[in-house]
Amino acid sequence: MATSAINPFESAKKQLKIAADILNLDKKTLAILSQPKRELSDDIPVRMDDGSTQNFNSLRVQHNDALGPFKGGIRFSPQVSIDEVRALAMWMTWKTSLVGLPFGGAKGGVICDPKKFSKRELERLSRGYVQQFVEYIGPDKDIPAPDVYTNAQIMAWMLDEYEKLTGHHAPGAFTGKPVEIGGIGARESATGYGGAVAVQQVAKLLKLKPKSTTVAIQGFGNVGHYAAQFLHDAGYKVVALSDSQGAIYNKSGLNPAAAMTCKIEKGKIAECYYRGSVVNGSKADVITNDELLELGVDVLIPAALENQITAKNANSIKAKVVVELANGPTTPDADKILYEKKIVAVPDTLANSGGVIGSYFEWVQNNYGYYWTDDEVHERLSKLVISAFNKVVAKSEEHSVNMRTGAYLLAVHRVANAIELRGGV
Ligand code: GLU
Repeated sequence: MATSAINPFESAKKQLKIAADILNLDKKTLAILSQPKRELSDDIPVRMDDGSTQNFNSLRVQHNDALGPFKGGIRFSPQVSIDEVRALAMWMTWKTSLVGLPFGGAKGGVICDPKKFSKRELERLSRGYVQQFVEYIGPDKDIPAPDVYTNAQIMAWMLDEYEKLTGHHAPGAFTGKPVEIGGIGARESATGYGGAVAVQQVAKLLKLKPKSTTVAIQGFGNVGHYAAQFLHDAGYKVVALSDSQGAIYNKSGLNPAAAMTCKIEKGKIAECYYRGSVVNGSKADVITNDELLELGVDVLIPAALENQITAKNANSIKAKVVVELANGPTTPDADKILYEKKIVAVPDTLANSGGVIGSYFEWVQNNYGYYWTDDEVHERLSKLVISAFNKVVAKSEEHSVNMRTGAYLLAVHRVANAIELRGGV
C-alpha cells in the first residue's frame, strides 16, 4: 500500500480552514479547534516472553470535548506518529459532531508491530497502556475503542485493567468490548454496516442499481471485510478486494465470505486468486493495491489507511464514487482533483461513522444496563447515517462545495456553538 510523507495533521488543519473560512469562524475558535486540548505521551515498558523489557511509545490525543466525553479508538501500528494521532483525534471530533453524538474526539496509538507479539505480550502492552493513562480515561472522561490492529480482546484486557485500578465496574469506559463483558453483538461489524448504508444512499442519489454496480474495496480488516459482505448481501458486485500484501480482481464478482475463509487459511488475499468459491469459478487477476485504486469500477472504497488517494494518483481514479471507510484516505489536493472530475467522494466522517455510532449505542446500553437486539442497533444506526447523509448533501449543494466541506460545515458549526455556549470564547 502506498506510504507517503504527507502529514495527516496538516491535511486535517487544511480541511478545517476551508470550512472555517466559509463559516466566518472567529480566530479564537479556529485556534482552539486547530490544536488538541491535551496530548499524552509515554513509553510503556513491556516484559517480553524472552524475559527482556522493551519500551513502546504510546500516545493519547484528546482533541475536543465541548460536546461530551472524548471518544476514539486506539491503534497499534509501526506507522503511528504524533501527527497521525492528532489528525485522527480531530477527525473523531467532526465525526461524532456530524452524526449528533454527545461525544468529543480523541485517538490513541502505540508505535509497535503487533503482528510480532505473542498473545501474552499483547495483553501486557494493553494493560500497560491503561496503567499509563488511567486517570484520563473513564465513561464520562474519555472512552477508547478498537482501531487499526486492535480488537475486542484488547478492549477486554484494557477494561479489566481499568476496573482493577479504579476498584469498580465501569463497562462504559471502553467500547468495542466482547459481548460477554458488556459489548454489543452489532459493534464489530458496525463500521462496515454504516459504510454499506452510505454506499446505498449515494447509489440512490446517482441512480445506480445494485446489481450493475461494481465495487472495489481496499483493505480487508474489520471494516473492509464487513462492508464487502453487507454490500454483497445487498446485491452489489464486489469485484476487487485487498489486504496490505496485495489485491485480487475479477470483473464478474468475488465472494467476500469465501475470500475471508481463504485469507484465514492462506494468510494473504493474493493467494486466493484461483478458488472457485472466491471468484465464481474463473481466475481472478492478482493486482497491487495501487492498481486497485485505479480500477474502472463504480464505487471505490478505501478501507485501510490514510493518504491513499493523493495528487499523484487522483487523476487516474476512474470510479464514479469514492466512499471513505478509512480515516483520511484522501489528501486535500486530491479532494480538489476528484471534485473537478465530478467524482462524488463520501467523506470518512460520514461514511465510517457507523463504528462510533455503534460505540455510542454500546455506551448508552452500558450506562443504563439494558441491552437491545442487533436489529434495533442496525435500525437506529441506519437512521443516524441516513439523516447525516441527507444533511451533508443539502449543505454541499447550498454552498457548492464537495461533501467533505459540507460535512465540516455542519460538524464544526456544532462544536463551535458548544464552545461558545460554555463561555470558551
Ligand atoms: N476507530 C473507529 C473510528 O475511527 C471507532 C472509534 C470509536 O468507536 O470510538 O471511527
